[in-house]
Amino acid sequence: MSCLFCRIINREIPASIVYEDDRVIAFNDINPQAPTHVLVIPRQHIATLSDLQPEHDALVGELTRRAAAIARDRGIDANGFRTVFNTNRDAGQTVFHIHLHLIGGRSLAWPPG
Ligand code: AMP
Ligand code: ZN
Repeated sequence: MSCLFCRIINREIPASIVYEDDRVIAFNDINPQAPTHVLVIPRQHIATLSDLQPEHDALVGELTRRAAAIARDRGIDANGFRTVFNTNRDAGQTVFHIHLHLIGGRSLAWPPG
């Protein structure tokens, strides 16, 4: 399996895992852009948001709700946090297994670069 995040799921590559269940795993980004920078991903390999099908709707909802729960657990939800899916080249997607960035713990500029 060549996908980096599938290899993390399969424990072929180490990661700092902060949450996992039957469908979702979350781990700290290796190159954090803020005090909290967690990637929330499905165990199922889906390359980009453009590949989502109706049967993935509940799974994407779980990713989103898990990101909010991790933010709440870390006490950054009241001040605020950002959740981002990058898709394809112009957005800077580098790993083609969908992942929701949870970024927070500091004030974030908008719009992004
Ligand atoms: P994106 O640019 O949206 O595709 O995000 C990919 C993210 O994966 C980047 O923020 C990287 O820092 C992160 N990343 C790459 N390799 C690893 C790894 N081995 N463990 C954790 N995060 C990683
Ligand atoms: Zn994958």
